[in-house]
Order: sequence, then structure tokens, then C-alpha cells
Amino acid sequence: MTSQNLHAFLKGNLNELREQGLYNDIDVVESSNGPIIKLDGKSLINLSSNNYLGLATDERLKEAAIQAIQEWGVGAGAVRTINGTLSVHTQLEESIAEFKGTEAAIAYQSGFNCNMAAISSVMDKHDAILSDELNHASIIDGCRLSKAKIIRVNHSDMGDLRQKAQAAKESGQYNKIMVITDGVFSMDGDIAKLPEIVDIAEEFDLITYVDDAHGSGVLGNGAGTVKHLGLQDKVDFQIGTLSKAIGVVGGYVAGKKELIDWLKVRSRPFLFSTAVTPADAVAATKAIELLMESKELNERLWENGDYLKRRLKDLGFDIGHSETPITPCVIGEEKKTQLFSKRLYEEGVYAKSIVFPTVPKGTGRVRNMPTAAHTKEMLDQAIAVYEKVGKEIGII
Ligand code: PMP
Repeated sequence: MTSQNLHAFLKGNLNELREQGLYNDIDVVESSNGPIIKLDGKSLINLSSNNYLGLATDERLKEAAIQAIQEWGVGAGAVRTINGTLSVHTQLEESIAEFKGTEAAIAYQSGFNCNMAAISSVMDKHDAILSDELNHASIIDGCRLSKAKIIRVNHSDMGDLRQKAQAAKESGQYNKIMVITDGVFSMDGDIAKLPEIVDIAEEFDLITYVDDAHGSGVLGNGAGTVKHLGLQDKVDFQIGTLSKAIGVVGGYVAGKKELIDWLKVRSRPFLFSTAVTPADAVAATKAIELLMESKELNERLWENGDYLKRRLKDLGFDIGHSETPITPCVIGEEKKTQLFSKRLYEEGVYAKSIVFPTVPKGTGRVRNMPTAAHTKEMLDQAIAVYEKVGKEIGII
């Protein structure tokens, strides 16, 4: 294919996506990503960020980051294994380990990178991975990169997991078998059935891996799904991101010392890509310190989440089966979902539509992410708009 043909081919595909309502234009936000955002000069109630605790705009984190820039500069200067490991990075890793209740932790540049790094550093072509069908894209890519056999497990179906774990073990084909799951599934807000998963893991000698990007800062008074369920000793890899509830950027693995030491010598994003900036490391450490000191933000997040869910459900919206503050409004058809989101926007509420390929076809939704930073007035205002637009489009 020539370059000209390639571009014509891409243009054709893009047009097709637009026609099917599967092309999402990228919105450019003209303010910080707090509870109220500005787009096209217009102020909107923001129900689409992952800034669960409002920490992305917290004054204490901003102050810590500014001081860190003054002291450390704006960049780490080298990859971690040359001389880009500044003491702010090791302090961050120590805080993560304490927060998660593990022996050690390693920080990466993002949660995405972390999954790519961690899975492929430990698993290889002689191994198998049992992966929940709704696991995040970065888990899927990490599994592919490892070259291990990927065995898809029906979502949170413990019978299916048990049967596939048994078959993999009894086949005698694999050196290692790992089970991987999100801690909290971000599109529906449901929690992984970890007590059952660790029991099955024990029965069939599975390595356990939990990506708690949406559970950290949210469940277990903030410490995450694993600690919430008291399973720290039964989960080998606790993965997370510093970009959602923690409010900054970066990812991490928390686990036993030898696992973390192995990742430090084998995982390629750690070896070959520069670490997060000193300001990021210091701000994330500050966030963790705040969460360990006080439950206040976490409690406010849950209050707001429970309130929004109850009110939208009472209005007749299908909010699925969320067990966390994540509040989907499932609409189904893609174009209707996008129209609903567009009308919310016009009425002053930013709640992004989520359609295929992020969720299966025909399950389009507007996903609401209430945060600790929303006031009750903001939520009431958003709910009134939901009622108006929901009736107008015939959703409720
Ligand atoms: N894992 C899960 C479950 C996620 O939801 C996300 C973010 N969408 C990531 C990993 C990636 O995290 P980050 O944004 O830090 O790369």
C-alpha cells in the first residue's frame, strides 16, 4: 500500500465510524478538571472525570508540586536505572507500599505502562493467563505482549473461571498460570469477586493479579479493593494508577520484595523510559499521605455517589448494578446515547457518552463519575437536567 492509499483508506474508515456514530470527537477542556469545567467558553457540571476525590485540583497537592519544582526542577533527567531515580521516587514507592500493606512497590509512568510492564516481565509463552472479558485494554495489551496463552473468562463468572483454571492446570501445558482481574470494573462500577477468585487461585496454584485503578482511593477507606476485603496476603500483584483518585499521573505495582526487585531489573518501561516528574512524585506522595490521615474525602465521595445513584434510579434511569460511586446510565443504542450526552451538554452538564469499542455494541451509556468535590447543589442541578433531557428523548 502506498502512502497515498494508506491515507485514503484511513479517511474511508473514519467516515464509516462517523456514520455509525462510533467516532467521538475529542473535547478540549479550557479549565482544570474539577467539578465545574469550561468548554467552548461555557461552564459545565463535570460528571466525567476520574478525579474521584477532587485531588487533581487540591490546594495541598498544588503547593507540594510547586515546592517540588523549585527544589527538584521539572524533569527526572534520566531513566530510573541510570540516575533518574530521585529520592522523591523512592519516597513515593515507600508510601504506596505502606498504603497498600505490601512489602514493596514500584512506580511507573502510567497505569497503562504498568500493566504492559508487569504482565510481560513475569509471564511468557510457556504460561497461561485467565483474564476477565471486561478487563481494561492495558491488561489485554500486557497479556498479548507476554505471548502467554490468553484464556478469556466470562465476566465475574466464577463457575467459568474454576472450570478454565482446572482445565489449564490439568493440561500440564503451562509453567505458570495467572488470573487477572480489574478490582472495580470501570464501565459498570461492579467489584470483582475477589474472595472467590483467591480461593480458586489457591486450589489451582494460580498467580493472582488485581488492577485496582478504580478501587484505590474509593474502597477500603481509600486503600483499595484488596485491603477492603482483607486479601493482601493472597494477591501477588496489586496494580494501580496515580491518575484517578490520587489525582496526579503514574502507575504502580505493590507486592512482595522479590517481585518488585524483579520488575526493577526486567520491566522495560522502568528500564528504558524516564520516570514521572519530581512534582508528580511529590504530589502523589502527598495525596497518599492525606488519604492515610483522614477518611473525609472518601466519605464525601460515597455520600455523593449514593445520592446521585438513588436520585437517577428514582427518576427511572437504568443505572446498571454499580457497587461503587461510578454511576452509568445505560441507554443502549449508540446514536441515542450520543444525542443524550449532547443535550446534557447543551443544558450545562458534561457527561460523556461511552460507546463501542469501549463497551460492547448496543450497550452505549452515559457514565457519571461523581466526586468528593461536587456539592449537593451541583448534583441537584445535574439531576434536574437529567430529568428534563431524559423525558425529552424518551429515556425515562
Ligand atoms: N487500568 C484500568 C482498570 C484503568 O481504568 C485505566 C485507566 N483508564 C488504566 C489501567 C490506565 O491508567 P492510566 O490512565 O494511569 O494509564
